[in-house]
Amino acid sequence: MNIVLLGAPGAGKGTQAEKLVAEFNFKHVSTGDLLRAAVREGSDLGKKAKTYMDAGDLVPDEIVIGLVEELLKKDPSSSYLLDGFPRTTTQAVSLDTALDKLGTKLDYAVNLVVDNDAVVARLSKRRCCKMCGYIGSADDGSTCPKCGGEMFQRDDDQEEAIKNRLVTFDTQTKPLIDYYKGNGRLLDIDGSKMPDEVFAQVKAALS
Ligand code: AMP
Repeated sequence: MNIVLLGAPGAGKGTQAEKLVAEFNFKHVSTGDLLRAAVREGSDLGKKAKTYMDAGDLVPDEIVIGLVEELLKKDPSSSYLLDGFPRTTTQAVSLDTALDKLGTKLDYAVNLVVDNDAVVARLSKRRCCKMCGYIGSADDGSTCPKCGGEMFQRDDDQEEAIKNRLVTFDTQTKPLIDYYKGNGRLLDIDGSKMPDEVFAQVKAALS
């Protein structure tokens, strides 16, 4: 089974992805994580992506699509969980084409629905661990409760970038919901609840 996780920034995609991987043995592909790793490495791709990411804009389709296609080709028989990809209809169509070429398909688009006010509140408090990638909140203080690493706030979780990311989501990513609804693959999930409750809904929808 291959699935994508849809939802506004801060809807809980990363948290649900962790739980899904633990339960269903998916290979987790987060384009946000891949791009942040490229930025850290200082690769050409990372340098190109950084300006867009810091501003809260989408990285151009051709860059992100190339990145995902390369990964899928390496191991076409795995079950994939794509998180943060696709984010545009062009990416969604390219994903269907790429999977079709590999003799497989996308089964479901799990859409975490959370209203904008809740998302802004979550993102402005979100903190991440530099060492293990744990996603927590300002309430965790400066030390990761999982590994003791340093917690930090992502540049794109600053107020201006959050606003821009939400506008980008409304204009560029929301049309995807209709794309997947139209071809019967959309699973709407109430993402406003606590992570375990959201996960229970996701599991029920997938089974
Ligand atoms: P995320 O961690 O998924 O919130 O992604 C962080 C940032 O990476 C986004 O705000 C975009 O700038 C960029 N990004 C991640 N995934 C994509 C994608 N599928 N298409 C374009 N840009 C992306």
